[in-house]
Amino acid sequence: MSQTPARRVVYPGTFDPVTLGHEDLARRAAGLFDEVVVAVAAETQKHPIFPLEERVALAEATLGHIPGVRIRPFHGLLIHLLAEEKVSTILRGLRAISDFEHEFQLASIHHRMDAGIETLFLMTSDSYTFLSASLVREISRLGGDVGAFVQPAVAEALRRRYHGVSGPPCP
Ligand code: ADP
Repeated sequence: MSQTPARRVVYPGTFDPVTLGHEDLARRAAGLFDEVVVAVAAETQKHPIFPLEERVALAEATLGHIPGVRIRPFHGLLIHLLAEEKVSTILRGLRAISDFEHEFQLASIHHRMDAGIETLFLMTSDSYTFLSASLVREISRLGGDVGAFVQPAVAEALRRRYHGVSGPPCP
C-alpha cells in the first residue's frame, strides 16, 4: 500500500526574539503541515542581541506547546539543514511588499542551489503586519512596554537584556 509522504516544512529565521507574529505564522503553518520545524539560525548577519541558546529557549517557551511544532537550532547553510531533516520545503512569512525583494532573492538562490527546494510564503495576519523583532527590540531598549507584541517570557528576557532588571516595564 502506498503511503502519503509526511508533509513537513522548515520555518527558518533569526528569532531575535520570537514575537507574536512568528507565533501566528507557526500556528497557522501547523494547521497546514504534519510538522513545522522552527529552525533558529546560529550564523546570521544580523548580530543578534540574544545568544543562540536563549533564542532557542524563548522559541521553545513560546511555540513549543503548539502541536506539530518542533524547535531546533542550526549552524551553517539552510540547505544542509534541509538535507539533514529530509525536508524540501521552506516556509517564510511576508509582511509587506518591502519583504518581497529579499525573500524573492533567498527563494531563488535556494532553488538554484537545489532545484528540489521550494519556498512557500504565508501572508502575515492583519494584526501583525507592522510587527518585527527589530522594532520590538528598539521599543524595549528605550524602556517601552512590549507586552502587546511578545509573550511575557520574551518581554522579561528583553527587560533583563536591556535594563538588567525583572518586573513590569518602566512607566
Ligand atoms: P530572518 O533573519 O531570517 O528574516 P526573522 O526572525 O526576522 O528571521 O524572521 C523569520 C521569518 O518570520 C521570516 O520569514 C519573516 O518574514 C517572518 N516574520 C517576521 N515577523 C513576522 C510577523 N510579524 N508576522 C509573520 N511573519 C513574520
